[in-house]
Amino acid sequence: AEEALRAEAEELHVVAVLAKAERNEALREKAAAALRSLVRFGKLGPREALALHLLCDGPSRGAARQLLQQALRPAAFKYKVVFHDLETLAQKLQPTVEALQKLFSAGAGSYYGDSLFFLSVAMHHIMPREVSRVIQVDLDVEYRANIRELFQEFDNFPEGAVIGIAQEMQPVYRHVFWQYRQEHPGTKVGEPPPDGLPGFNSGVLLLDLEAMRQSERYNRLLEPAVVQQLASKFHFKGHLGDQDFFTLVGMEHPELFYVLDCTWNRQLCTWWRHHGYSDVFEHYFRCDGHVRIYHGNCNTPIPAE
Ligand code: UDP
Ligand code: MN
Repeated sequence: AEEALRAEAEELHVVAVLAKAERNEALREKAAAALRSLVRFGKLGPREALALHLLCDGPSRGAARQLLQQALRPAAFKYKVVFHDLETLAQKLQPTVEALQKLFSAGAGSYYGDSLFFLSVAMHHIMPREVSRVIQVDLDVEYRANIRELFQEFDNFPEGAVIGIAQEMQPVYRHVFWQYRQEHPGTKVGEPPPDGLPGFNSGVLLLDLEAMRQSERYNRLLEPAVVQQLASKFHFKGHLGDQDFFTLVGMEHPELFYVLDCTWNRQLCTWWRHHGYSDVFEHYFRCDGHVRIYHGNCNTPIPAE
């Protein structure tokens, strides 16, 4: 039995969402570029395989299949693709994330489609038990490095950390926390790096599912009353889904998060530069070093190689 176990490849699990893609060519093109670059820079060990989990709605699945077939063909590593049905997941998720939706969604909050923005938060309930770690990535990204190196970042998690995540690179949370900041002069909440707490961006997420399942603290924070109390302490009302939750929780419990280097999620959106924050924008946006993943958030084009 041991022999058989040893022969089996170790799977590196990557999760991505592809929804409403059937009539959105721009989205399909971005997803294709993301997957092509993942494959081009990807190098795995001889006993490793990529397990790509695509979370799709029914109509997007056909597009996803076609996209994957083309993008994965040149892969120099073993891989498998697992499709998950978004509608089923959304319904399964609904009870866990209902309270979060009310606090961190733009809309009224009862529409179950909304719960998709909180998939990552409850990923430990969604993935099968035997999956202990996953990396969840947006599809508006391009890789400039081997994703295997990102999996190695799990080994840098300090005791107690459950999620690896990069900081947000715009002053959006400086804006969102304005009232708390006014009432707490000198606070680090919403301040830029290196000393401040600018909040998080959820485009690249290292989810230690085993740690998420085991962490009493993390699961307490998913309880409606607990997260509501935290939101009111910080006068927090958001609209960015999971990253709002991680940002808010990170202000009170930074020990739950391992902060990824900015080069693993180099966001490119500059919307807030032109909306009242030009004076401080650069302090948030700066990121030194070789970019390993570009994130073309808010539909920003990604520079060619
Ligand atoms: N997404 C999708 N269909 C959509 C919108 C978003 O599949 O209509 C997925 C896709 O994986 C995308 C992710 O959700 O990368 C997050 O959305 P997006 O990257 O557009 O948000 P941003 O990073 O600009 O805030
Ligand atoms: Mn994105």
